[in-house]
Amino acid sequence: MSNIMKIQNLTIDYNGIVAIDNMSFKLEKGKFYSIIGPNGAGKSTLLKAITKNLHNTKDSIFIEGIDLKDFKIKDLAKKISMVPQETSIDFDLLGEEIVLMGRIPHLKRLEKEGSKDMEIVKNSMIKTNTYHLKNRSVTKMSGGEKQRIIVARALAQEAGIMLLDEPVSQLDLHNQIEIMNIVRELVDKEGLTALCVLHDINLAVNYSDEIIIMKEGKLVSSGLPKEIIKQNILEDTYGIKVEIIDNPVTKKPFIIHVNI
Ligand code: ADP
Ligand code: MG
Repeated sequence: MSNIMKIQNLTIDYNGIVAIDNMSFKLEKGKFYSIIGPNGAGKSTLLKAITKNLHNTKDSIFIEGIDLKDFKIKDLAKKISMVPQETSIDFDLLGEEIVLMGRIPHLKRLEKEGSKDMEIVKNSMIKTNTYHLKNRSVTKMSGGEKQRIIVARALAQEAGIMLLDEPVSQLDLHNQIEIMNIVRELVDKEGLTALCVLHDINLAVNYSDEIIIMKEGKLVSSGLPKEIIKQNILEDTYGIKVEIIDNPVTKKPFIIHVNI
């Protein structure tokens, strides 16, 4: 079975106000999916529902064929990891201590981490270019370093699916590309399935195998970037004027905003 996740007629409301409206889609293992769409489209709500952080879900989410309802939170954390937009860590933790948190779902109650866990933590830090931050306090890390540490923590969870909610919105261009390259490499080399909310459509086009467009809780369109990144779809979704040209370097669609 190649569908690692299936969402079927998912509807979510907050006290009667519909945030996700009868959405259905499937994710195949080992692909990079982006979700784009205006503010309030329901993107974060969707990710929260997948991580079982909502109780108002008319559940229709299946992970590797198993109904989300049948997962204990700890078992779900072995399947799905999450990288939020911003992580506020108020404690004075070291880089390595944060990444080690990713091992919690794999430990028994009160069990202390072993050498295997430390090895996984080390590898996760090497892959995210954070090993040199092992003994650095999180309070002394830059935004980009902190976000790479959070990706390392997600990686240490050894979950096959990684959800990312606007992981690069707060970062400069260099750090954006660094995070995106890390995730893309995990998809290509380790068969990770990534589901990543992005605001920058051109970034989504460059890194995604498929893009899911959402508006007002509904799925507008999904598929290959070149098939769905169309002028009429984007103009309807965002209510702006755009032109789409061929990116001369990548040959992929490139979106230009036009202020007329
Ligand atoms: P996005 O991430 O696409 O910007 P959200 O999923 O955060 O959108 O929000 C979708 C809709 O649900 C919005 O209209 C938002 O106001 C509403 N919403 C989100 N969280 C809550 C909440 N905890 N209580 C009530 N309404 C919420
Ligand atoms: Mg959001």
